[in-house]
Parts: sequence; C-alpha cells; structure tokens
Amino acid sequence: MMNNKKSKILVLGAAGLVGTSLVKKLREQGYENIISLDKEELDLIEQSEVESYFCQTRPDIVFFAAAVVGGIQENIASPVDFILGNLTIQTNVFNAVAKYPPKQFINFGSNCIYPSSIDTAISERQLLTGPVEETNGPYAIAKIAGIKTLEAFRMQFNYNFYTVIPANLYGPNDLFDSEKSHVISGIISRMTKAMENNEPEFNVWGSGNVLREFLYVEDLACACIKLMESESIHPSLINIGSGEEVSIKELVRKIKERLGYEGEILFDKTKPDGIKRKFLDSSYINGLGWNPKIKMNEGLKKTITWYQNS
Ligand code: GDP
Repeated sequence: MMNNKKSKILVLGAAGLVGTSLVKKLREQGYENIISLDKEELDLIEQSEVESYFCQTRPDIVFFAAAVVGGIQENIASPVDFILGNLTIQTNVFNAVAKYPPKQFINFGSNCIYPSSIDTAISERQLLTGPVEETNGPYAIAKIAGIKTLEAFRMQFNYNFYTVIPANLYGPNDLFDSEKSHVISGIISRMTKAMENNEPEFNVWGSGNVLREFLYVEDLACACIKLMESESIHPSLINIGSGEEVSIKELVRKIKERLGYEGEILFDKTKPDGIKRKFLDSSYINGLGWNPKIKMNEGLKKTITWYQNS
C-alpha cells in the first residue's frame, strides 16, 4: 500500500466545493492526519509562503483543489482573474512540490479543457486535438498548462502526479451567487430570490437546450479516494463523470419542482449558452470499480436542503 490511514494528507482549497467534501469523506474513511487549508491559512498567491509551508509540512499526499473558479458569465467578465490567478497559484504550488515532492499529487481539472467540437463521449486522449470553448478559454488554458506541468514531472522524475477531470460539479458548499456561480447553484440562488420577491417570471440564461453531465461532489470525493488508495500508477488524466446528462431546460424543471416555484420559465437568448455538450468517457475510473451513488434528483434535494439551512 502506498499510503495508510496515518499518511499526512494536505487538502488545498479545503473551504471550497471539492475540498470540503474531500475532507469529510477522508475523515469518514478513517484518515487521521488530514491538513485542510483554506485561503486564510495559506495564501497560494504568495510564492515564498507556499514554499516555506511545504518545507515545514512535507505532506505525503496533496489534493490540489484550490483554484479561481466560476460560472459562464464570471468567466466572460473576468478572464484575467481566471488565467492569471490559476497560472500563479499553480506555479507556486508546483515549484513547492518540485522541492518537496509528495508521494502522490492529485490535481483537479475541468471538463472545459477538451476541444469544443467533440459531441460524443470525450476520452482523455482527446486533449489538445482542437480549440477549447471560448466562454471559458482563459480558464481552460491555465488548467491545460497545469496538466502539462504535471506530465513533465512524470516524464522527468517518474512522480505519481496526476489530474482528475470531473464533469460539471454541484453540491453543498458551492458558491451560491446569482451572477458568479455555475448553473445549479446559480439557478437555486436566483430562483429562491425570485420566489421571495413573488416574481411571476424567471429568466434562464441561454437557450436551455445545451446538455451537461452533472456529478454530485461527494461522488467525486469517493472516486479520488479510490484513486489515492489504488496501488497502480494512474494515467496522467482521469475523467470522472456520472453518466447522467440533462438539458438545462430539464435541470431548471427539476429545481423549480423541488423549490416549489410557480412562475413562468423564460429563456434569455441574449445570454451565452457555452458549449453544446461535454460528456465524459469515464471508462478508466469505472474500470477501477467506482460508480456514482447519488442520482441527480437526490443530489439536488441534498444541495437545496443544505442551501436553505445555511
Ligand atoms: P459551463 O458548463 O462552463 O457552460 O458553465 P455554467 O455551469 O455556468 O453554465 C451551464 C449552462 O447553463 C450555460 O448554457 C448557461 O448559459 C446555462 N445557465 C442558465 N441559467 C444559468 C444561471 O443562472 N447561471 C449559470 N451559471 N448558468 C446558467
């Protein structure tokens, strides 16, 4: 076994959607030595702080779940933050692990790194076979740079560093902001506001016709722990999808029903749709025996309950 329940596991981005869920699942599975760090504890923008932190801490395993993230409108509004912010924190963390390499380094990418022209199930081998979707191009380019840097570590030093590519994630501890969020948390927060204001109509961004594969964040956390515990050397890129794909229209219908909103749903075609489809081929992770446990209806229920209680 490459690690045991006493391995020192560092979770960067521990306050975020992925980080919170990872820490929770690791604890549930008996890991005793988890260091969860959020921005207040270590600012990844500061190179010297990052390096001295790794020098003192020397983690065995690192989950790099810290990133500048946001929904489609936020990506369009702040491209500099997405490309420069992510390149900077990646470079700082990668320089630190170059000096103090952990036994495993698990990086988080995004399904937007793949070419936008692919409308069948996307395999890991299709990275860089075509241009990425424009609406999140700057973010995707930063993430691709990160993936390629980790591949360089693998080639030059044989390090067990790899990247997981989740489908569109959602769940508790997501950012619930009407403008900056991804679609599920964005719709939940906007529709809740519409209900509070007794608004008769609700505007969904875009045509509603695009398809997305949604993954509940706890399923992602379980997949990552499975990878971490496995003794095999994984490929550099690993897709993690749920296999559950819905149109935005269908998604909105589900959220509307769950929240009990009674107004009319309209589609604002002046807002961007983004990519038509991004469905992942998750054969590798499925082959290791991982399958998602939370179906969308249950995941949405848990997410909405969490949002209403927090
Ligand atoms: P994407 O998967 O990178 O395109 O990111 P998003 O999760 O932000 O958006 C997914 C799709 O949902 C896009 O077609 C959006 O236009 C659509 N959408 C509809 N309403 C909303 C909303 O309130 N917030 C967000 N973020 N997207 C929305």
